[in-house]
Amino acid sequence: MVVDYHLHLRALRDDVEEIDHTLEGVERYVEAASERGVDEIGLTEHVYYFRQTEPFWVLPYQLERCRHDLDRYCDAVLEAKRQGLPVKLGLEVDWVPEHADELEDALAPYPWDYLLGSVHWIGGVAVDQRPGLWGEHPVERVWALYAGELEAAARSGRFDVLAHPDLVKIFGDRVEWDWQPLIDVLDGIALEVSTAGLRKPVGELYPDAGLLRAAREAGVPITLASDAHLAADVGRDLGRAVEHARAAGFDTVTVFEGRRSRQEPLG
Ligand SMILES: [Zn+2]
Ligand SMILES: [Zn+2]
Repeated sequence: MVVDYHLHLRALRDDVEEIDHTLEGVERYVEAASERGVDEIGLTEHVYYFRQTEPFWVLPYQLERCRHDLDRYCDAVLEAKRQGLPVKLGLEVDWVPEHADELEDALAPYPWDYLLGSVHWIGGVAVDQRPGLWGEHPVERVWALYAGELEAAARSGRFDVLAHPDLVKIFGDRVEWDWQPLIDVLDGIALEVSTAGLRKPVGELYPDAGLLRAAREAGVPITLASDAHLAADVGRDLGRAVEHARAAGFDTVTVFEGRRSRQEPLG
């Protein structure tokens, strides 16, 4: 089985990427996925795109975006599910320690299949945008800050999957890193094998082979993801993600339903 469990539902209008939280949008993604041999997709819009989460954001980047309706997004995905399409309802949730409880309450009314946990900002400063943290700290310190936040996100027990686990390598600035402390706190949380890094300056899959092998040895499960923001990228390069996972010793992939998981044969 091949899943694409990290997707942002958008459409191109006059060459501009626009939010498209509609049944038609979901159908378009399902079609694109099936053309690429993907069996099931999961929609995972960023949590800061919804007005229901507005009280938790302070950054202009987030405040400019949180004007969409979470009910509309969920209804579009749930209607596709009702029609029997192979889709799951998810969300990409930033780890915001200071608002974690309130955020959980805001998301509680919705029937999620799974929640991705992500670290994009630390103390309001971005790890995946320049200059961001890179302008403030040496490379080693940025890695330590990122790994610490990701560990805290895992320990919080609020997420089913950690998205793009070694996102910190995005610009190719790297140090030798021991990910074992992260592996040790995963406790049932899956790691995402993402092809998004292939389209970033680093030009590699997330996570790297060392982290993935350590995860396998510890019995940590995986998902597969493109992190597509357009139908054209749905399922993109997932064959490479499957190969990468197999090389690390994986032969199953995680499938979610109602925040419960099971393993299916990989590929
Ligand atoms: Zn992300
Ligand atoms: Zn994403």
